[in-house]
Amino acid sequence: MPTSLPEGSRVALLVPGSMLLLESVMALLARGVLPVPLDPRLTAYERGRILAGLEPTLVVDEEDDLVALLDQVRPEGPMSGWRPRARPVHVTSGTTGTPKGVSSGLLTPADAAALVEEERDLWGFRPDDVHLVLSPLYHSAPLRFAMGTVLAGGRVVLPGPFDPATVTDTIRTERPTTTFCVPTHLQRLFAHWDEVGTPDLSSFRVLAHAGAPCPVATKQRLLETFPPGSTWEFYGSTEGQFTACRSEEWLERPGTVGRARPGRTLHLDDDGTIWCTVPPHARFEYLGAPDKTAAAWREGADGPAFSVGDVGRMDADGYLYLDGRRTDLIITGGVNVYPLEVEHALREHPAVEDVAVYGVPDADWGHRVCAAVVGTATPDELDTWARERLAPPKRPKTWTSVTDLPRTATGKVRRDELAPHHQG
Ligand code: ATP
Repeated sequence: MPTSLPEGSRVALLVPGSMLLLESVMALLARGVLPVPLDPRLTAYERGRILAGLEPTLVVDEEDDLVALLDQVRPEGPMSGWRPRARPVHVTSGTTGTPKGVSSGLLTPADAAALVEEERDLWGFRPDDVHLVLSPLYHSAPLRFAMGTVLAGGRVVLPGPFDPATVTDTIRTERPTTTFCVPTHLQRLFAHWDEVGTPDLSSFRVLAHAGAPCPVATKQRLLETFPPGSTWEFYGSTEGQFTACRSEEWLERPGTVGRARPGRTLHLDDDGTIWCTVPPHARFEYLGAPDKTAAAWREGADGPAFSVGDVGRMDADGYLYLDGRRTDLIITGGVNVYPLEVEHALREHPAVEDVAVYGVPDADWGHRVCAAVVGTATPDELDTWARERLAPPKRPKTWTSVTDLPRTATGKVRRDELAPHHQG
C-alpha cells in the first residue's frame, strides 16, 4: 500500500467474509473512511458497473492487500473502545435493476454510532454473546449484526461460506447465542438435520431471518426446534430497517412481518406503498443517482420518510403484511397482481417446497401470470389449489416444474431469470 485515505473517501473491499474483513471495515469506519464491502465473486462486467458508480479511492481484491491496509488503519486501542465515524456503503441486491450504492457519508460520531447501537439494543447484544455469521458480510444486515455484537463486547464466529455440515459443527463447538440468516439457509440446514440429526440449539437466544418470504413449514420448524421466544423475522432492506416480529406473534397473524421497529413509523399510501419515517441519523442517499434519492424520500408530518417500492397492508394493531414490490407487479388483463400474494397461497400446498411467480408478455393479457414450482405437486393439483384460493387473474396460467429457483446471494428469487425462458 500505503495509500492516502482522507476522511469520507471510499474503499472497495472485494474479499471473502472473514475476521480480517470485519476488522478492516471497523477500523476504516473509526477513521471516517467509508468501506464498500462487495461480493468477491462479481464478474468483471458486474464489478465494472458497480465500481463506476461508487468511485472508490482504493480497490482491495487480494487478501494480502487487505492485511497491508489493516496494518495502515488499525486503531491503537482495543476493539472494545471502537466507535464508528462513518457508515459502510452497501450495494443493494439489484433484484429490481442495477445495484444501487446506499451511503450516509460522513456522520457525527453520535449519528454514526446510532444505527449500530440500535442494532445492539434491539437484539439486546451483550458481552457473553457468541454471534454466528451465516450470511455474506458484504451485506448490510449481517455486518450490522456482527458490529452490534462487537460493540456490546461479544464474540463473532465465522464458519466461512455457507455449508450446512460446517455450520452444524460450529453450532456444536461454539454454542452460538445469536445469528442472522435468510430463509434459504434455514431450509438447507433443516434438510441436513433430517439426515444427521438436529444439534443442541439451546444456546440460541436470538435467531433472526429476513430478506425474502419464509415458507410456512420452515417457520413452523423454527418454532419447534429453537428455544421458545428466540426466533424472529424482520423486514428491511439495504436502505434501512422497517419491522421486527417474533415467530410467536407470526403464529397469531400468519404472513405478517411484524410491527415498526423502535424509532420508526410506517405509513401506507392509498396504493399500499410502504413509507418509513426514520430519525435523521438514518438518512441515506444513492451514490451518483440524485434522481433515485429524490424519488425514495419525502417529508412527512413526523419527519423524513423513505420507500424502497414495497407495497403492503397493515392491520388495526399495526402489523404489516407485504404484498410485493411495485416493480414485480404483473398487470394482466388490466388487473394488478403481486407475485408475493400468489406465492403465499401456493406455498401452503403440502407438495410445494418453493415457488416463484412472475409475468411474461402475452398477446391477449398484456402479461400472463406464470409459476415455477419446486416439489411434487402436478399442474392439475396446483390448478385446483389456485382455483380454491385465488381470484381468476391471480391464478397462474403456466406451471413450470424446477429443481431449484434462481436466487441471489441474499436469498432473493431472480424473477428476471425465470421470465426469459418463456419468450421466443
Ligand atoms: P434492489 O433495490 O437493487 O433491487 P433489493 O431491494 O432486492 O435490491 P435488498 O435491499 O437486499 O435488495 O432487499 C430488500 C428487499 O427484500 C425488501 O425491499 C423486500 O422486498 C425484501 N424483504 C426483506 N425482508 C423481507 C421479509 N421478511 N419478507 C419478505 N421480503 C422481504
